[in-house]
Amino acid sequence: MNISNSKQLFERAQHSIPGGVNSPVRAFKSVGGTPLFIKHAKAAYLYDADDNKYIDYIASWGPMILGHAYEPVVKAIQEQAVYSTSYGAPTELEIKMAELIKSMVPNVDLIRMVSSGTEACMSAIRVARGYTGKNKIIKFEGCYHGHADSFLVKAGSGVATFNIQTVPGVTAGVSADTLTCAYNDLAAVERLVEENKGEVAAIIVEPVAGNMGCIIPQPGFLEGIRKICDAENIVFIFDEVMNGFRLALGGAQEKLGIDADLITYGKVIGAGMPVGAFGGKKHIMEVVSPLGSVYQAGTLSGNPIAMIAGYTLLSILKEQPQLLKELDDKTAYLKEGLDKVLKASGTPYVINHLGSMLSIHFSDHPVTDFASAASANNELFKKYFHAMLDRGVYLPPSAFESWFLNNALTKKDLDHTIKAAEESLKEIL
Ligand SMILES: *Cc1c(COP(=O)(O)O)cnc(C)c1O
Repeated sequence: MNISNSKQLFERAQHSIPGGVNSPVRAFKSVGGTPLFIKHAKAAYLYDADDNKYIDYIASWGPMILGHAYEPVVKAIQEQAVYSTSYGAPTELEIKMAELIKSMVPNVDLIRMVSSGTEACMSAIRVARGYTGKNKIIKFEGCYHGHADSFLVKAGSGVATFNIQTVPGVTAGVSADTLTCAYNDLAAVERLVEENKGEVAAIIVEPVAGNMGCIIPQPGFLEGIRKICDAENIVFIFDEVMNGFRLALGGAQEKLGIDADLITYGKVIGAGMPVGAFGGKKHIMEVVSPLGSVYQAGTLSGNPIAMIAGYTLLSILKEQPQLLKELDDKTAYLKEGLDKVLKASGTPYVINHLGSMLSIHFSDHPVTDFASAASANNELFKKYFHAMLDRGVYLPPSAFESWFLNNALTKKDLDHTIKAAEESLKEIL
């Protein structure tokens, strides 16, 4: 495949943008090679700077759930743009968006729009601290909640450690307030809460994790955390930036039947525009300024272009519930096909899959947390990634990312992907 234009662009980008990209995973560092520069996309396909066509399994990391350049969304943006792209004053559209989300997620009483998933998670933590008057938070190793300081604490291996480990640029003081333990390890959560009695403001989790590949919560894990939070006055935060409006209209809460206190959104909620949101139960959300005293603001929050894009997409998902069902069915079909060719290849593998999230780990043991994800054969994943890319299939450029299917994928695309997987495995094993 000729990617000479992408190579040139990447070279040029590095003179003016750190590492040539505006978000690190795009640089292909974990799989090696040259990142592809994208010119345009339509439905399930990406077209790069050299006019190569790829079947897209990233969907902008989730938002393009009904495919790229989805006509109703494009039209809504065009119609709105002529009325100005921002006012910095309230609009009816923001109320409609909030009302729509409330109609889909029963325990969202109040919701505040922001411009990214990072902002949503960082604000939710602030709200939990303001509400409880406590400082510490618990997060899980391998869960990603955006790049705010509190979330960038490098997790120790296994059960949480009291060692203060920081990444450069994050102060030890901030890191000390973030406790970590392994995903799916309820006993570790119990221990941490006990050891920090009366100090934990919030437990934040990706209910279905997507940032260490796809990892499914084991029965009892989230239910157990719910009980601990109730007993200890801890705010339970579901980070549904990936799961929201994808696993079900009501997100992971609906899919798994668990009630969180605060929920954060991003990705699908903005249909590809920069949008995030945090919301939840009234007695907690009431602390948010100007109703309460926990300050949170944004010049472009609730931006009309972003709102009309998200509102249009979410309305369609709500009005046509069969769309998410179709997407789940397509994912199950792909999973079955991949299962067959992987089994035939003889290489150890694990496919984790729920709804339209899926990932492959080349591992001979179950992948249930970060440690088991990290001990998979990621060298083999790199080869697999490139072999698939050569066959026109664009997977997330890291074994630590869930694949995101979109409903524009056709059966032909899925069959092509399964065939590409079969050929790729033959080539690399
Ligand atoms: C992507 C992601 C975020 C961060 O969202 P941004 O819009 O990139 O800031 C937070 N949490 C989860 C679970 C995510 O997948």
